[in-house]
Parts: sequence; C-alpha cells; structure tokens
Amino acid sequence: MSTVRKEWTPAPDTPVQYLKGVGEGRAALLAAAGIKSVEDLLYFFPFRYEDRRHPMRICDIRQLTAPVAIRGRVVSCGLKVSPIRQLRIFEAILDDGTGSITLVWFNQPYLAEQIRKNQRLAVYGQPRMSARGRVQIESPDIEHLEADGESELEGTIVPVYPTVSGIPPKAIRKIVQQSLGAVAALDDPLPVELRKRFDVIDLRSAIVGLHYPQEITPELLANRSAAHRRLVLQEFFAFQLALRLRRAEEESRPKGRTISIDDTLRAKVKTVLPFRLTGAQKRVLKEIADDLQSPRPMYRLLQGDVGSGKTIVAMIAAMIAIENGHQAALLAPTEILAEQHSQRIGQLLDGMVSVAKLTGSTPAGERRAILERLASGEVHLLIGTHALLEDPVRFRSLGLAIVDEQHRFGVAQRQRLFEKGELADILVMTATPIPRSLALAMYGDLELSVIDELPPGRERIRTVVRGSTQLPKIYAFIDEQIASGAQAYIVYPIIDESEKLDLTPLTVGYERVREALPGRRVAMLHGRMPNEEKESTMERFKNGDIDILVSTTVIEVGIDVPRATVMVVAEAERYGLSQLHQLRGRIGRGAAKSWCVLVRDERASEESKERLRMFEATADGFEVAEKDLALRGAGDFLGTRQSGIPRFVFGDLLRDFREMETARDAAIAIVRERGCGGAREIVSALMGHRSHSPLARD
Ligand code: ADP
Ligand code: MG
Repeated sequence: MSTVRKEWTPAPDTPVQYLKGVGEGRAALLAAAGIKSVEDLLYFFPFRYEDRRHPMRICDIRQLTAPVAIRGRVVSCGLKVSPIRQLRIFEAILDDGTGSITLVWFNQPYLAEQIRKNQRLAVYGQPRMSARGRVQIESPDIEHLEADGESELEGTIVPVYPTVSGIPPKAIRKIVQQSLGAVAALDDPLPVELRKRFDVIDLRSAIVGLHYPQEITPELLANRSAAHRRLVLQEFFAFQLALRLRRAEEESRPKGRTISIDDTLRAKVKTVLPFRLTGAQKRVLKEIADDLQSPRPMYRLLQGDVGSGKTIVAMIAAMIAIENGHQAALLAPTEILAEQHSQRIGQLLDGMVSVAKLTGSTPAGERRAILERLASGEVHLLIGTHALLEDPVRFRSLGLAIVDEQHRFGVAQRQRLFEKGELADILVMTATPIPRSLALAMYGDLELSVIDELPPGRERIRTVVRGSTQLPKIYAFIDEQIASGAQAYIVYPIIDESEKLDLTPLTVGYERVREALPGRRVAMLHGRMPNEEKESTMERFKNGDIDILVSTTVIEVGIDVPRATVMVVAEAERYGLSQLHQLRGRIGRGAAKSWCVLVRDERASEESKERLRMFEATADGFEVAEKDLALRGAGDFLGTRQSGIPRFVFGDLLRDFREMETARDAAIAIVRERGCGGAREIVSALMGHRSHSPLARD
C-alpha cells in the first residue's frame, strides 16, 4: 500500500443507496422491507448465526444432525444431467487429506464457471444421506480460499439475516457490514448512570455484538445475551417511562372535581341493586369510591373472571359520578354488548339517570340528537362502541370513563376516551387473566382491583369434549335440556369478524340444527347482520322466544343471558383456550346446571385433542390462561384478539419479564427523582431513537 486512502464511513442517516452493492433496484427492495437508512440496517439483526470457526475433519463427519464447516481442495467436479427429471446437477468432490465428501447443487449450472478443480474452498452446510446411501452436502455455502488461506468469513461467526426478497444472503451480509461503520456516530439515549442502574452495556457494543458476536453462548442463542438485554431494556424503559410521565403530568394538577358520597346516594344505590353484592364486589367498590373522591384522577383496572359481576360495579361507579353532577361513558367492544349494557343499566336506573347508546349504526338523526344532549349535559351516561371515540362526541363534563373488556382495546383508545374529559377518572375492566409481565406492559400505569369471588348459587359448569360424529347425540341432548327450560348457544368459527367473512360454516350449521330439531325455535346471529336484526334477535333470545342461538363468536364477550345454560362450540380445536373460556363464560350465570360441549373435528391433531382435554379439566380462568400461554407461546397468546397488548420489536413479554419489571421500577423512580421535566428529556431522547416505544401505535 503506497497511498493512504481514507475510507468513507456512512452516517446513521445516510440513505442505503450510498452503500456499495446497493443500486436503485436493491434500494427499492430494502425499502419494501422497511430499510431506508444506514441506521435501519444497524437495527436489522441476524436471526441466527453460523459458527464457521472450527472446521471439521471430513473423516469425522458422522452425525447428520447439525451443519458443518469444512475446508479442502476440489479434486474433481462437473455438471451432469439427471436422466429422470432433467435436473442439472453440479457436483464437486472435496478432499481435506483426511477424507472426501461430495458437494451437490441442483439447477445452478453457472457454478461450473465458479468452482474448478484444485481450488481450495471453505464449505458450510448440512450433511445428508444421498439416495445412493452416501453422505453428501446439498447446496452448501462456499467461500473460495485465497492462496494464503485467508477468506472473509472463514473462521468467523457468520450472521444470518432475515430474507429480503430479491437480495441474496451474501449481499445482505455485505451491505449490513458496511453500515456498521456508522455505529460510532450513534448517540446512546441511555445516559451512563441509567446504564449502571440497569447494569447494561452501551448501545454501540450491543449493536456490534448482535451482528458479530465474539462467542456463541447459550444466552446468545436464547436471545438473552448482554447485547439483547440492553436493547430490550431500552425498549421497555422507553415504554414505561412514557406511561409514567403521562400519568405524572396528568396528576400534577388536581382533577378539579369534588366527589362526595353521602347517605342519600347510598340509599339510592341500595334501591336500584337487584341483588346483594358479594364481598369481593363490595371491596373493589370501596377501592373505586376512594379513588373517585381523591383529588387525583383514578387509573384502575378491575379484573374478575367471566361472570364475576363487574358490570354492576361499573354501574355504581357511574352513579357516583353522575349524582355528583358529572357524566360517565362506558365503552364496549361489540354492538351487541353495548346494547346489552344500555338495556340492563337503562332498566335499573330508569327515571334516575338518562342513558343513551351510540354505535356505528346509530342513524344520523338520532346521533345528532344524542350528541346535542351529551354536550348540554342532558345525557348522563353514554354507552357505546368505538363510535364514542370519534371527534364530534363531546361531553359537558365527563367525570368517569369506563372501558369494558379492555383487552380488546389499545392503550391509545383508552387515552382517547380519557381526553374527552377534564382529567376523567378511568376504570378499565377485563376478565382476561394475564401473567404479571403482560399486565405490566398493558396496564403498567394502573392500580389493580380484583373480584375473586363468584356470585352465590352458581353451579359448576360441566365441560365435555365430543367428536363431530356424536352430533346426533348432542342435538338430542340439547333437545332434552330445552324441554326442561334451558336455552342453548351453538357457536361456529369464523376466522375474524372484521376480516373477510365466510358465513358458510354458520349457515350450514344453522340449517343442520333446524333439520335435526324441527320442533325448536332456532335463530342465527353474526356480526354482519343489520343492527336492528341483531338487536331483535338478541332481544328475542333474552326473552326466551328463541331456544337455540346459532352464532359466530360475536357473543364471545360480555353477553349475559342467565337462562342459557348450554354452550356448544363447533370445531373447538380452532380456538385458543382463553377464547374457549370466554365462550364458556356465557353460561353458568344462573342457578341451573350448565353444560359446555366442545365438538372437535375427527381429523383434529393429537396435540389439539390434548389441549381440549386439559380445558375440560380446568374451570379457573387464571389456570386456563397460564396453560394457554405455556402451550401456544407468547406470539399466539398475544395474537390479534389481545389487541390491548403493545407489540415490542426486541422485547418478548414472556422471555423478558424481569426486564419489564426493572424498567417499570426505574421509570417510577426517575419520575420521582427528576420530576416531569427530567423524565421528559429522557423520553424524548428515547423516542427520537429507532428502538422507540410502541406506545404511539394502536
Ligand atoms: P362479568 O364480570 O363477566 O361482566 P356480569 O357483570 O355480566 O359479569 O355478571 C354476570 C351475572 O351475574 C349477571 O347476570 C349479573 O346480574 C349477575 N350478578 C352480578 N353480581 C351478582 C350478585 N352479587 N349476586 C347475584 N348475581 C349477580
Ligand atoms: Mg362483562
């Protein structure tokens, strides 16, 4: 080297086009994968590594379970055409002095140009037994070794990146490698003392360590290395600190509402109660009442298994706000549930409180009238679906915002409802029992109240699993139950109410039930029916004018018809356990014995049969959730249904639950130590950063 050439180093914000090997075409392919800048590449991490440091002697290749790295000389090679399928096969025999092995590639004739006799190769691939009973390696990765035995990847740990369609893995590797030059210019959004508090490494080392680890350790393979922990903590901390900060900012002003609970109010509540509250209901009500009367806004999560009686607690909380001159809102995830709440609550509070219902299908004229009466304060309690969150919905004085079935909503939706009031008190309710790390993620800023007792006189629900060949017997059983005064649900799976709706299973099922039980009154219910039809069907079912409701999962949450004591779930193997538990929660709401019959397809896998057997034996919601989680893993458990759970890029709520706790504790401490101003500075440094918190997402 005679001249000193200064290498150009990319900056984090350099567009990827400026990198070697990236033209317009590849830039577009990268952009389609969400990668535009060099910084994006820095955070584009390998999902596994190949250890090519320790080449194996060819004579030692015996077990065929793991890929091997070998080196040797090509002693012969050539292109063949297989007579049977016209496959063009390129074969090379590699010898390392201890033995030889055949390398095989299919339909890559150009390799004949690249691999020649006497060349030295470093090879990485999975050995397999060929049809002729010889060990060979198919389509291995190869590197040409230079005369002096040096090569780029030989003897290193090689990162393997997720596929970017259209760009070969080797090219991706080179592109990412260039981006690492920009790492020195990255600012660490976690100050040194926070890194110390968390006991984590700095950002640059973490990024380099994930692309080019020094060692392959069990922690690295389990995504729990020091580098992983650093990124996870940063992500969780950004999230928790933003939550805490928002709450601290809201709390820094008193809510400017005085709520008092006197004997008149107590007497009023007593007159509307249709039953005696359970001990657990009384306890949580006291917790809520204390919050309402405090100068700080309430942020409370009310958790209680399906059927534990959360609605009545919410209603009393609403009465307290309303009797003190404010309004209340109750948000529900489905129109059917909103309708049920407005009917039930409307009935109990008739003449005392004015209740209105607002959903997506409220006619324009009616909607206008409701909005007017809401703004004037004439409507005391507004019950509805997502329609409540829209801009034109304005309250005169929203004192209490209640979210039912909170796990169906996101943090952002809860926040939108809250913002319709002046520091409104918030009560969110859910039956979904979740592990602590998930609870911290979803409800990190909420206090917790638990109803851990069911209303008295409930019979344990019998759950049984039956094969679909037993359907005639099941119909006969339903018939018997109806004869003795019961009503039944039969639920058919429809992948997702909001997505493309295939009603075939439902309509076929409906016809079958009508044929099998001609003497019974059968009706069908699904989310896409016109609203009046949905309402009138539900109404007739509640009044006992329908014996069997053949439905999609629109009845999954919240629906309460105490006389319905039979729940038949078709193709039960297609549901998660938590969802089955919600469905089962529709029955067992009265004193009569209830039956949950899970019908599984004969072709269901052994695994899913085992899952259903487990469900059959478990009545408790917490136990069900734990098993569900253990069986399905976080990914599925957190699936689309649990939309309230924020998605994290690096962190995994199950794997990294300790980090979530650490992040939360630190967030609380930072807000306390530095006040809102100090916390805000850190939050904005973290948010400006690639590994931002998912808070903003909905
Ligand atoms: P969830 O907690 O699942 O929302 P609900 O509020 O729908 O439960 O209540 C389930 C059923 O139990 C309803 O029919 C309700 O009227 C009834 N219920 C609630 N509390 C009591 C109680 N203390 N005593 C008797 N029945 C009750
Ligand atoms: Mg409910």
